[in-house]
Parts: sequence; C-alpha cells; structure tokens
Amino acid sequence: VKVNGKNDYMLHSCDMDHIALEKLTIQHEMRRALRNKEFILHYQPQYALASGQIVGMEALVRWRHPERGLVPPGEFIPAAEESGLIVQLGEWVIEEACRQNKEWQNEGLLNIPVSVNLSLRQFTQRKLTSKISEILRKTGLHPRYLELEITESMTMDVERASQYLKELTELGVSISIDDFGTGYSSFHYLKNLPIARLKIDRSFVRDIEQRSSDAAIVAAIISMAHSLQMQVVAEGVETKDQAHFLRSYRCDEMQGYYGSPPLPSTALKELLSEKFNR
Ligand code: C2E
Ligand code: CA
Ligand code: CA
Ligand code: CA
Repeated sequence: VKVNGKNDYMLHSCDMDHIALEKLTIQHEMRRALRNKEFILHYQPQYALASGQIVGMEALVRWRHPERGLVPPGEFIPAAEESGLIVQLGEWVIEEACRQNKEWQNEGLLNIPVSVNLSLRQFTQRKLTSKISEILRKTGLHPRYLELEITESMTMDVERASQYLKELTELGVSISIDDFGTGYSSFHYLKNLPIARLKIDRSFVRDIEQRSSDAAIVAAIISMAHSLQMQVVAEGVETKDQAHFLRSYRCDEMQGYYGSPPLPSTALKELLSEKFNR
C-alpha cells in the first residue's frame, strides 16, 4: 500500500506534537512534584565480597506520583535532563541523601558512605561544588560519607573533568565511575583523574559464568583498577554463583538483587541496625 505523502506528513507532525505535549506535561508535573515533595529516595546496599558486610549504599530516586504510583527514574530522568530541571532535582537528591545518612549516623547505626548519581548537566554546572559544600555544612555529614557517581562520557574532556573533579575531591567527597565499560574509556583519564571506585556495568556481570569473554573483561578491569589503587564494585549481581565468581576474582564489592534490591529508607534503616547489632 502506497501511503499518500500528505497523510504521511500529517501523521508524522501529529506524532511530534503528541511527544512535545507529553514532554511539556511531564516537565510541568515535575515542577509541581518538587514543590509537593513527591520525590523519594530508595537505597540499595553494597556488600564487601570478602566479609559480606554492608559497606555502602546507593541513593536511587523515585517519584511517588499521585495517580501513577511509584514511577522509576528511567521514566522521568531523561525529561528532567532535557529541561534542565535535573539540576534542581539532583540538588534535592544530594541534600536528602546527606540528611538521611547523617540522621542514621546520629541514631548510632552503621556509618557508611552514600552514593548519588550525577547527570552531565549537574556536573558541568559551575555552582555544583559550592552547592555540595553548602549541603555538607547544612546537614553536618562528614564529606567522606558522600560519594558522587559519574559516567565515563563525563570525562571525555579530560582537562575540564580534571578541574571539576579536583574541586569536588578537595571538599573531601569521593568519585566513582558508574556503568564502567559501556562508554568511552581511556587509560589517560583513569590515570589522571581522582577516581576512588569503578562500578562494573551489569552487562558484564550477567553472563560472567557462561561467557569467558565477559569473565576476561571483568578480570582485566579488576586487576587494572587495583594497580591504580581503585576499588571495584560489581553491579547487577543477582545470584550466589555470580557473587562467588566475583569474589574469587578479588572484586571488592557487589551491588544487586542477590544482596538486596533498592529499599525504602525505613527498610534500609532496619538492615543497618541488624548488621550493627550482630
Ligand atoms: P544506575 O545508576 O546504574 O543504578 C542501578 C540500577 O540498577 C537501579 O535502577 C537499580 O534498581 C537497578 N538494579 C540494582 N540491582 C540490580 C540487579 O541485580 N539486576 C538488575 N537487572 N537491575 C538492578 P533504577 O533505580 O531504576 O535506576 C535507573 C537509573 O536511573 C540509574 O542507573 C541511574 O542512571 C538513574 N538514576 C537513579 N537515580 C538517579 C538520581 O538521583 N539522579 C540521576 N541523575 N540519575 C538517577
Ligand atoms: Ca549509579
Ligand atoms: Ca550503574
Ligand atoms: Ca546508569
């Protein structure tokens, strides 16, 4: 069937309007959501492979939408990035993670760092360092208990990344590379940037026992990271066998459903007190 050119165009244009409208709606709704405090953080624990102890946690944002229920970040972070709202949302995430961590520390729970994800827009925003400094002062959290996760693509411009990361690490916070192995990688940046941890992307972990190529890549990442004095976290660890495998490869930590899924703060708090009292 040959579609008439005009109809084809109209259909296309109609789709575009629909998408644009959807974007506007979500942006409008997100502004309202920030005001109404509809965003919440879940926390996923990270376990040391050698001891099985919880040694860290990642803060992951969710939107408690009045009609749609709990909305995962994949459904609104892209719109937030595009509109620039991510800067405001991201600041809220950092402040809430710091505030919550300090509150748990004050209650005598396990003292562990909390990691937060940074978007490119946030990272390249010149006020980020002073904002974080202000948040640390305001919440009273010691900077060693805050970790910032960036992705490889944010280090493309090594000169600029180096300047930004220097400012941030001078505050005392640490930096990790998220989804490691999926983006642009260069040994130059690894050698020259102040990076404490590499988080191996879950695509390498999934078939680690079946695919020797994935196992080889993971082994190489771990050995390279260790010789550069970096720690390694494996993401997306879902089974006991994967955990054993990673442990035998001297991977430092794991994060994934096998240890625990991301949890609401009340559930994570229980986990931290259980561990503490053991
Ligand atoms: P990410 O930083 O790579 O976070 C890990 C994602 O993997 C989380 O999805 C987590 O729930 C999921 N996950 C954890 N363990 C497993 C596992 O064993 N198997 C599988 N299949 N998945 C696992 P979530 O919470 O939906 O977050 C998705 C992405 O959204 C994050 O990926 C991150 O890129 C982004 N994101 C989340 N919170 C924030 C935030 O506050 N700011 C920014 N900029 N991005 C965020
Ligand atoms: Ca992350
Ligand atoms: Ca990741
Ligand atoms: Ca990611």
